[in-house]
Amino acid sequence: MRLSQTLFVTLREDPAEAEIPSHKLLLRAGYIRRIGSGVYAYLPLMWRVLKKISQITREEMDATGAVECLLPQLQPSEIWRESGRWDTYTKAEGIMFSLLDRQDRQWGLGPTHEEVITTIAKELIRSYRQLPLHLYQIQTKFRDEIRPRFGLMRGREFIMKDGYSFHDSTQSLQETYQKMDQAYRNILTRCGLSFRAVEADSGAIGGSGSQEFMVLADAGEDEILYSEDGAYAANVEKAVSLANAAVTSSFIEFAKLATPNVESIEALSEFLGISASTIVKTVLYEAAYDSGIKVLALVCIRGDQLINEVKLQNELVKLSANYQAKTVVSLKIPDAASLDKKLPLGYLGPDLSSDYFIGSVQQIVRLADHTVVSLVGFVVGANEHGHHLVGVNWGENMQIPEIVADIRRALPGDRAINDPSQFLRSARGIEVGHIFQLGTKYSQAMNANYTNEQGENLPLIMGCYGLGVSRLAQAAIEQSYDKNGIIWPVAIAPYHVILVVPNVSEQEQMKVAQELYCQLNQAGIETLFDDRDERAGVKFKDAELIGIPYRLVTGKSLQEGLVELVERKSGNVEKIPLSQVISTLQTRLSS
Ligand code: ATP
Ligand code: MG
Repeated sequence: MRLSQTLFVTLREDPAEAEIPSHKLLLRAGYIRRIGSGVYAYLPLMWRVLKKISQITREEMDATGAVECLLPQLQPSEIWRESGRWDTYTKAEGIMFSLLDRQDRQWGLGPTHEEVITTIAKELIRSYRQLPLHLYQIQTKFRDEIRPRFGLMRGREFIMKDGYSFHDSTQSLQETYQKMDQAYRNILTRCGLSFRAVEADSGAIGGSGSQEFMVLADAGEDEILYSEDGAYAANVEKAVSLANAAVTSSFIEFAKLATPNVESIEALSEFLGISASTIVKTVLYEAAYDSGIKVLALVCIRGDQLINEVKLQNELVKLSANYQAKTVVSLKIPDAASLDKKLPLGYLGPDLSSDYFIGSVQQIVRLADHTVVSLVGFVVGANEHGHHLVGVNWGENMQIPEIVADIRRALPGDRAINDPSQFLRSARGIEVGHIFQLGTKYSQAMNANYTNEQGENLPLIMGCYGLGVSRLAQAAIEQSYDKNGIIWPVAIAPYHVILVVPNVSEQEQMKVAQELYCQLNQAGIETLFDDRDERAGVKFKDAELIGIPYRLVTGKSLQEGLVELVERKSGNVEKIPLSQVISTLQTRLSS
């Protein structure tokens, strides 16, 4: 491609809209333009990168036996009502763009395709003989993200590879899941990324497992906890660990103490001169179910620990049937203003009377983390302003909450559960892929059944596998750039080589460059030809900024029959004879 013939505009200044390096660089180097909030145009260089990632993905998917198709982005509301997700996706979570057609029928713009694929499976899969089957597509997805940010990292329109598999046994599902695990590792390795596969939260869907693929980068929105030996790695949302042991409480006698103006755990441990690990902290949450019922959750956790809200939400989702609901649509710490004014905030305990809960909130549910159940002689709020109870024992002085579960946030420095001699460390990651054993959630809701060998009619067992193609492209930059610009891994660089003519009015330079350009093209070396009538300095700066792996310069050394070859990554400069340009590049590019 001749730069003089394409749309190529670079910016000198960092655009104000961008916060992280990869986003700034994509804008400055002319890869993308913002058209609206979370909506970007992929300019010619970007489109080549996206096509390369898509092609690597396609090759690795095809190698597993998955088959490519293309599903509609415009999806009728009926199929989303059948799965039970229309209201949560358009109203509660609000992630799906929806619209009305001229007949006033409702449609959604596909944020994901479980409903579409399950409809197809329901209509076309009849027998176990058609299984297993894995269909995938690479396509634009639409999501009305609350906070679109960081350019392609969290867009409202983005490219995803999504695949869905169908099985007649859990074992078959697990085989495909394992193949996907390997395929994703291959894709990310081929794209030149440093990544980690981590255990992930499967949320309300349940199922027997899900794994995320994290590109390691400081700008990542996710936190990963991993053991020093790498044997354990999980998203912090899902991570489990061994909490450090609690200090033995110094309170032997049960008593109520006046603790005026001591409303936080820090203040209380200082006031009483005790370790926070001997305190039971009681936190109030408000959970809203999709049935419209709201519940107050009174959650107990050891004073030195933190609540993991994802785990808490999962516990509350399990109670949905009690509230004629399928799921929890929001979970938050309620504003003080919405609560009963007499509520002894700052002094709450697990046995808080239900009388406080009036108005729209109908129920109170009490939960405790495992860490509080073994405490003896602990300290806890007395449910009375300015007072705490000390020397408290479960069973003697108050009841253990009805639900005891793991709702604790694992922390760096905790011991690993699989090997207590290992400590957990923390890293930031960008989630680029998520693979998921779905089970029968959608097939059951939508009646997608098959007939097994014995003639029984059973729901299809499903898996789903997502990969963020456009997010991955930007994540690659977040892992590989310097002060001068992007440094693309060769496999996903828009071009392999940029051929720079320092001075287009020098006939010899131009002639040699034209010839080289032809030879490079013939050899299949993807070349960007900077034939613009610009100063050499500008061209070199642009070449660095856009991050093409190799730069060829037809400059002064031509007099000796040499051209300059500069490697973007190392900055190494070599002078090589014209006759060896192609072979040298072929060797470099294939290594
Ligand atoms: P996140 O937690 O980051 O919102 P998700 O769990 O909603 O991701 P999935 O529904 O599993 O993501 O989608 C599969 C993949 O699509 C993700 O792993 C990610 O790489 C990509 N992806 C999801 N949302 C976006 C977005 N708004 N912009 C760009 N890529 C996205
Ligand atoms: Mg999301």
